[in-house]
Amino acid sequence: MIDPRFTVHGASRLLASGALSSRELVAFFLERIDRWNGQVNAMIAIDRELAFESADACDAMRDRGEAESPLCGIPIALKDNLCTRAYTTSCASRMLENYVSPFDAHVVERLRQAGAILIGKTNLDEFAMGGSTETGIFGPSHNPWSSDRTCGGSSGGSAAAIAAGFASGSLGTDTGGSIRQPAAFCGVCGIKPTYGRVSRYGLIAYGSSLDVAGAFAHDIEDLALILQCISGHDPRDSTSLDVPVPDFQAEVKATRAPLRVGIIREHLDSDGLHPEMRQALLEAIEVFRSSGATIVDVSLPHTKYSIPAYYIIAPCEASSNLARYDGVHYGFRADKTHSVGKESPLEEMMESTRSEGFGPEVRRRILLGTYALSAGYYDAYYLKALKVRRMIRNDYDAAFENVDLLLGPTTPNAPFRLGEKVNDPVQLYLEDLFTVGANLAGIPAISIPIGRNGDGLPIGMQLQAPPLQEGTLLAAGYQFHRESGYQPTLPDMDGMKS
Ligand code: GLN
Repeated sequence: MIDPRFTVHGASRLLASGALSSRELVAFFLERIDRWNGQVNAMIAIDRELAFESADACDAMRDRGEAESPLCGIPIALKDNLCTRAYTTSCASRMLENYVSPFDAHVVERLRQAGAILIGKTNLDEFAMGGSTETGIFGPSHNPWSSDRTCGGSSGGSAAAIAAGFASGSLGTDTGGSIRQPAAFCGVCGIKPTYGRVSRYGLIAYGSSLDVAGAFAHDIEDLALILQCISGHDPRDSTSLDVPVPDFQAEVKATRAPLRVGIIREHLDSDGLHPEMRQALLEAIEVFRSSGATIVDVSLPHTKYSIPAYYIIAPCEASSNLARYDGVHYGFRADKTHSVGKESPLEEMMESTRSEGFGPEVRRRILLGTYALSAGYYDAYYLKALKVRRMIRNDYDAAFENVDLLLGPTTPNAPFRLGEKVNDPVQLYLEDLFTVGANLAGIPAISIPIGRNGDGLPIGMQLQAPPLQEGTLLAAGYQFHRESGYQPTLPDMDGMKS
């Protein structure tokens, strides 16, 4: 059993009973951050004063009997692509290194309204492009389970912050797996909600038709609490869904008809899946079976096209979204004086700004996307990828006619070594094989810890459900953890392998 202060629901109970004050809780986490963040590099900005100030405000509210939300007084960390007035929002890019947003992202606003304490911002791959939290200007984050390993990405800092016990919960964003993959690598729970369930207002755009904000936590109950807080319609995001938000806490523990669990053949039989991961999943399937679930074989025949389609669509959208970083609107501007003979000083400035302000991976994506969208190639690449995307969604729709959820691996492998893939983009892209489908289809998915491999590194399982069925995912995850006797654990940070 971990100390109850680490979980949202545990800390919330202690706060409610008066056994703990929010100020003490903040001090507890800050002390851990001071001690271990140098090793992990999950947090890239901390504001102690702000944290203590908000903690005192929460303690006062509680004294007056006004602390209604279970998140009141609870420290939450935020991925640094979510706009905050209180902190810079850098996207781990030189381009936005000193950018302070004049507004809070919708999800940040919601957390603040609930009284959550914004304890700090977390590390990520530059502009959320990547899968190892190595491409940003703050240097790599290290996996708390083994510091020579990546913590995944792009929301690696938010996942590592939970694993290392730097906050009770955290927010990340997921465009192609950036919540689920780091959750799996760090041995914590992560949820990517349905596209549109959570407003993208103030989430710095990467691939707008794929991006969604979600949460990390130690267990399913905590995911439900955070998701409850950040979900719901927001008129400032035109793709935000105007649909009722269920009571996720109630859904987690509701008694339901036995689940019909689909096993994705193409995922379980994939050549890329490490045998240890497959073995862990087979055992997980048995847990579902013995708890009364019906296990059904399911096929998603277009799985093999999901990586190619994603790596066309996401860069295309990125190239358009990142066009705004031109040295004029905001952010970094290269210090260039007009060189003699150049036609346009403005163009020259923009060119230097973009080549100096963006790192190599972001530049690669912009080039890829610009190429695929250019006249003559649009039909062959972008339009084709959109058609494949539709086929992938159709595969899911067909599968969900017979099952309540789909089960498979989150990642092909356990966390790889830092530096191992960062210079080999294709290898890194292939790591996203199991996660990008949910983004292309817009459906919700979670990753939950199911065990460890021979090296003691975490293994995650992915569950996917039809649109808006986050409740099914949470309930299934909760049931699985109960049946399998899962207890959240923290790595031995003192003995952290390096
Ligand atoms: N690894 C994927 C990419 O590089 C996913 C990133 C994400 O979900 N933000 O695009």
